[in-house]
Amino acid sequence: MKGRLFVISGPSGSGKSTICKKLVDNNENIVLSVSATTRKPREQEKDGINYFFLTKEEFEKKIKENAFYEYALVFNNYYGTLKEKIDDKLEAGFDVILEIDVQGAMQMKEQNNEIVMIFIMPPSKEELLHRLTDRKTESSAEIELRTAIAIEEMSKKDKYDYIVVNDELEKAIKEVEDIINN
Ligand code: ADP
Ligand code: 5GP
Repeated sequence: MKGRLFVISGPSGSGKSTICKKLVDNNENIVLSVSATTRKPREQEKDGINYFFLTKEEFEKKIKENAFYEYALVFNNYYGTLKEKIDDKLEAGFDVILEIDVQGAMQMKEQNNEIVMIFIMPPSKEELLHRLTDRKTESSAEIELRTAIAIEEMSKKDKYDYIVVNDELEKAIKEVEDIINN
């Protein structure tokens, strides 16, 4: 049986990665798509695990080869979903989560109307800023860029099938788990 596709979007710092990691740890039927990006790896990140880290030239070559289901420029870097990376998983029956931005989500929805779209909201803009600052992975200029774009992204939340507010983490994880497993 073929697995199903889920998209999870939300502003940077809303908790998408934290929620997705827990979902994958708790559910052996769920896997996370590993995207390609031209962003530099963070200290803890590993190539092939968190992302496939590519140069701009490598990424643009893959665009020409039509290797992506979707790609977008996000915060001045390319990010994209590689077709071959998710097709095998779906064929094997796994439910696959794409943790992608709003532009990529809309491209996926256009190609596949069956896809289930989930938007993760922070409890407030102040809390979003706290989380991004406390994560200590971006410079203050990068945090400023991410919070400015957050407003625009949040204005698109009604295009999604489900909106989950990530206030209490365990509650948010359970809500997303129920959407995927129902
Ligand atoms: P995103 O993937 O959306 O950019 P992360 O998952 O990296 O966000 O979360 C941003 C920061 O907020 C991380 O340091 C994470 O540990 C923290 N965080 C996530 N969810 C919660 C929550 N419900 N309450 C408090 N902190 C949270
Ligand atoms: P980060 O740099 O924090 O890992 O991710 C930045 C943004 O890029 C997040 O909004 C994330 O959802 C988005 N993103 C990650 N992978 C992809 C992808 O494959 N495609 C698109 N369109 N966005 C992605």
